[in-house]
Amino acid sequence: LRAAGKVRFTEEGKPAIIIGVTFDITDHKNLQQQKDDFISIASHELKTPVTSIKAYTQVLERMLKQKGDTKEAGMISKMDSQVNRLTGLIGDLLDVTKINAGKLQFNDVDFKFAALVTEVVEDLQRTTEKHRLINEFNYEGTVHADRERIAQVITNLITNAIKYSPQPGDILIRSALHDNEVHLCVEDFGVGIAEEKQEHVFEQFYRVSGNKQHTFPGLGLGLYISSEIVKREGGRIWVNSVENKGSTFCFALPVQQSR
Ligand code: ADP
Repeated sequence: LRAAGKVRFTEEGKPAIIIGVTFDITDHKNLQQQKDDFISIASHELKTPVTSIKAYTQVLERMLKQKGDTKEAGMISKMDSQVNRLTGLIGDLLDVTKINAGKLQFNDVDFKFAALVTEVVEDLQRTTEKHRLINEFNYEGTVHADRERIAQVITNLITNAIKYSPQPGDILIRSALHDNEVHLCVEDFGVGIAEEKQEHVFEQFYRVSGNKQHTFPGLGLGLYISSEIVKREGGRIWVNSVENKGSTFCFALPVQQSR
């Protein structure tokens, strides 16, 4: 049950009328639960065949390369990157069901922040020829968090910077220490986000519509998952953006100076 109420006051400030309404939201909650269950079952079912396709494409690519069939190997390699995209989408759906059920697991360890950023940047540089990823770090210290999950956040911000920059250009990745926090910012010079839409981009399934020149693929989950991860690790995530000029997405994580 959800209740909403209103109180009218007399001139002396005493309550004159109290109006109360209660809503039965059981149906709404059931529907939400059914939606979450469906996403969870569907993504689990999709995961198994996609994992098996992935294994076969890798074996096939290796065999074709050994035989010297480079053209065919190239086609299989394209298939492999599409399978990776599919795996990523299924992973996002699974993460969302885990977040909604309060079951996202974290395995926090101490790790070198700059080394992780460099690893992710080098991996993602291989996925684009149009963009130059420039990695400037000013923080050589340690962070205590789930390394894989933080890699997921950095990957997500840089992948978005690439995706929403249809023209060739630089993407700047900067990390630095500010008081007791390490900040990582990813700046692009792409399509940007209108001011009134910026506060919504971290919401589940939210996608900015109305870009008539380009359509971008996606489910609208990456930033929601990223913000949940950063919050669970005691940090913050935010965006500064100007439409048609570019965006800077940043997150902050706590660090202990003595480490
Ligand atoms: P997706 O990219 O799958 O739609 P995200 O949750 O990662 O989902 O992002 C939500 C929305 O925020 C995107 O649909 C896009 O409109 C906007 N957005 C995210 N990153 C950028 C960026 N670097 N530049 C412009 N728009 C962005």
